[in-house]
Amino acid sequence: MNPTIRALTDDERRALAAARLVAVESAPYLAHALFTARPVAAEGLATFAVDRHWRLYVDPVTLTEWGPVVAGAVLVHEVCHLVRDHAGRAESLPGPVDHTRWNYATDAAINDDLLAAGLPLPEWVVTPAALGMDEGGVEEVYYGVLTPEPPQTEVGCGSGAGDPVQDWEPGLDDPQTPGLDDGQVTITRRKVAHDVRDAIAQGRGTVPAGMARWASDELRAPSVPWRKVLAGMVRRTAALTAGRITYTYTRPGRRRLPQIVTPAMRAPRVTAAVVVDTSGSMTKADLDTALAEVSGVLKAVGGTVRVIACDAAAASARHVRNARDVQLIGGGGTDMRVGITAAEALKPTPDVTVVLTDGDTPWPDSPGRSRLIAVLTREHGMSRVPAWARAIHVPTG
Ligand SMILES: [Zn+2]
Repeated sequence: MNPTIRALTDDERRALAAARLVAVESAPYLAHALFTARPVAAEGLATFAVDRHWRLYVDPVTLTEWGPVVAGAVLVHEVCHLVRDHAGRAESLPGPVDHTRWNYATDAAINDDLLAAGLPLPEWVVTPAALGMDEGGVEEVYYGVLTPEPPQTEVGCGSGAGDPVQDWEPGLDDPQTPGLDDGQVTITRRKVAHDVRDAIAQGRGTVPAGMARWASDELRAPSVPWRKVLAGMVRRTAALTAGRITYTYTRPGRRRLPQIVTPAMRAPRVTAAVVVDTSGSMTKADLDTALAEVSGVLKAVGGTVRVIACDAAAASARHVRNARDVQLIGGGGTDMRVGITAAEALKPTPDVTVVLTDGDTPWPDSPGRSRLIAVLTREHGMSRVPAWARAIHVPTG
């Protein structure tokens, strides 16, 4: 039976606030996430769960039964699913996702950490030991070790933990219970990663090992979902270029009808060139951010990317397999137009040219031969990016 979703009453809100206080006390580095998640009442859910828009579903009856101490520990557990992006990581697993197995793997990784930090989780929670696995492992490793599970009909920890999206989940912009959009989620996650890093540096409280490892990965990780962005750009280009879309029958389409296999559309391989702004105005933080995005582009295209360092002049393009190999030469004035022209002169012409800059640059007047994605570390430059290009703001944190 589907739970009934509604806003919390004042009494429920107060009860949840008490639980959240317990949660913040036991995991202060998660305070920002605990206060950013959007609590919603889910009558009949019989537990807590989260969705991919950072709604926190709370069954009011369960909240009362558990009391603030246990409810607080479960809040930390649920928020860990969100912070550690178990929804996004489920999508990167090889093959069709075994949701039940992924839920066990992520629960084991979280609870391992939380029990080590002394949180009073209910006795029945999933732990690595209970599943016969070593402690201190990462989610994907646990997933690989666990045996496949038959699909489970009940909700685990929700779509925010990597479960399928439920039909009772409100849409992103639901007026009564609005969720967080992808941009807000990315920024929240980064802030938490910084809080975790600061907590470790200052020796405040005990930061569990898994949480510390997550934070250092997160701070190195690109902000832009490159696979999605590049595929979207190329699909649009392909639609304009007759004959570029290839159909294949090897992978069933998403909307599969019984007995009928519809062709899945496979996006053509993306070739990308990256122009990195190396002018004097780029700070170390700007360059670190740029390199994190270069590694994201590399991962998305799965091979090499041609990278051009550019200040007011463009250096020659280099084939790069790893972001570490990017040579950041420059230090002068800024004109990304020069780098874009150099990128478009490459053979073969890249489908997409990605410019990583602080934004203090002139832009070309008209589109060139490849699609332009401008990734800016400063927000004020966004309005100057031409309308025909795609502009993405990535804060340096
Ligand atoms: Zn869970």
